[in-house]
Amino acid sequence: DAVLNLRGIEKTYNKGQPGEVQVLRGIDLSVSRGEVVALVAPSGAGKSTLLHIAGLLDTADRGQVAIAGQETAGLSDARRTELRRQDIGFIYQFHHLLPEFSALENIVLPQLANGVPRRDAAERAQTLLARVGVGHRGGHRPAALSGGEQQRVAFCRALANGPRLLLADEPTGNLDPATSDQVFGALMDLVRETGLSALIATHNLDLAARMDRVVRLEAGSVVVASGIA
Ligand code: ADP
Ligand code: ADP
Repeated sequence: DAVLNLRGIEKTYNKGQPGEVQVLRGIDLSVSRGEVVALVAPSGAGKSTLLHIAGLLDTADRGQVAIAGQETAGLSDARRTELRRQDIGFIYQFHHLLPEFSALENIVLPQLANGVPRRDAAERAQTLLARVGVGHRGGHRPAALSGGEQQRVAFCRALANGPRLLLADEPTGNLDPATSDQVFGALMDLVRETGLSALIATHNLDLAARMDRVVRLEAGSVVVASGIA
């Protein structure tokens, strides 16, 4: 029972034009339920492109994407958006929190968009914040928080609607090494507690070694898929 199943994914930018670049050359990759997979790739290998395709933010030229058993080929834009909103959580290197709203409100808003009553949304937001160690920071705007706190809030936002799949692109890449280590630990605890499946891109091999499996992407192909005991 794969939560994410990618088969034969190909992607070329600027096809048939100057500057054509074949980014993904037939990627097969699955993430099982409860599995946390590290995606390790040198810069330019196509990691962000792959995460965007897996997250239904971009489309492949060829190949299939299934999310929680649901094939996504031929779905309407509305249905893709709904699937993305309900089943997929995103985390980026930069937090992308809304600056004019409090940390708590940043976690409440996606729940309201999903039809959750405000009181329940606020309670869930507070629980999530407390779980990652920033329960006392919910009333602050992002600018008043440290980089590590901002990312912790971004993790909570990604999990706000109880996704099945977490996609993260260098989630601690913006932080100094010590903070990165702590914040990554908080993320892993949260992922494990909720039984979430995740595909997490990182350059940091120490962090990758804390996941269940490492997938290496080089020049648009998976070169090694090794288990880590
Ligand atoms: P990574 O995340 O591994 O650094 P990306 O997926 O961002 O790699 O990019 C892979 C390659 O595709 C790079 O050579 C990049 O310049 C190119 N690329 C990414 N997005 C676009 C785009 N929208 N148009 C053209 N080329 C792109
Ligand atoms: P980079 O991969 O260059 O570091 P970021 O990760 O900062 O870029 O950028 C986030 C990417 O996610 C952008 O390309 C943005 O267009 C894209 N995006 C599009 N729609 C959404 C969405 N609904 N939620 C989150 N990110 C989105």
